[in-house]
Amino acid sequence: MPSISDLVRALPKVQLHCHLEGSMQAATFRRLAAQYGVESVRAIGPLEATYAFADFGEFLLAFAEACRVLRGPEDYASIARDYARDAATRNVPYAEVFISPSVWSYFHRDLDVREAVEAIRAALETERARGGPEVSLICDLTRNFGPERAMETARIAVQLATARLGVVGIGLGGDETKYPPELYAGAFAYARANGLHCVAHAGEAAGPESVRGAIDVLLAERIGHGVRAVEDPALVTELAARRIPLEICPTSNALTGAAPRSGPHPIAELDAAGVLCVLDADDPTFFGTSVDEEYALVESWLGPEAVTRFARNAIDASFAHAERKNALHVLLDAALAQQRAGGSAATS
Ligand SMILES: [Zn+2]
Repeated sequence: MPSISDLVRALPKVQLHCHLEGSMQAATFRRLAAQYGVESVRAIGPLEATYAFADFGEFLLAFAEACRVLRGPEDYASIARDYARDAATRNVPYAEVFISPSVWSYFHRDLDVREAVEAIRAALETERARGGPEVSLICDLTRNFGPERAMETARIAVQLATARLGVVGIGLGGDETKYPPELYAGAFAYARANGLHCVAHAGEAAGPESVRGAIDVLLAERIGHGVRAVEDPALVTELAARRIPLEICPTSNALTGAAPRSGPHPIAELDAAGVLCVLDADDPTFFGTSVDEEYALVESWLGPEAVTRFARNAIDASFAHAERKNALHVLLDAALAQQRAGGSAATS
């Protein structure tokens, strides 16, 4: 991993593709597993091997395993607190973070999802008062549970939004190869009709047809990853023309096989074609990365101007209100001005 430059540290980084459960520290997973007597091979052996996986399917199982140790509201509050404190150290002023309530309640049928999200919200607001990021939540309708369960989760998302718990949208993660976007058209239409934003993972484990389904059938406003759109030049042109952002997470893509490990990552081609690309870390503790490191990696490929552009894109691609976006752009401009002043002072 390249070192993190002063520019990357200074840039205010809006996060649009980070899963709260995927930011759980390995030590937290082990503490909760011990506390609740959850037997797991991931709770033994070296700490750094806690989230080891060989392929995308195994990664999804590891993610589910992490959700298995979340039980009481304090557990949810704990991972939200850790996320916000870490984000604060990385100059993240604003974030839209995924939560996966259908995976939580798969393991704990009697879980009160609203109580868990209230605990998350309380922890996030406490951290915000201490200088942490402003965080909105996006409820992921995990594909693997099928369309009916997705509709139930969409209903829960609407209730959470109505209860003013900071839920602004729904997303679609899980096994993209077995569960194409079209299956979830009803859940997405329902959420949209009830005022929620819609995003979807696509073009990660499956090809361009999945991205097309996400934008044409689900009317997704942003695509999670979307890197395999490069296989269809007409689709790339359309993504650029319609200004549909791709949330790109290069380390995740390399580790899950969504993008080739050797050879250039598709972000260069997508960016050059005018597609609005933004950067994030996906599941940072699972992939051993962070939003800073993802920016640093892409800066090593494409240079400082590109990462500055991606930081701006993230502000534009967010679901923040216009005033908040303006304030975030002002913050970014100030950081760049300070960088330039610091740079010229250092060379004079
Ligand atoms: Zn993701």
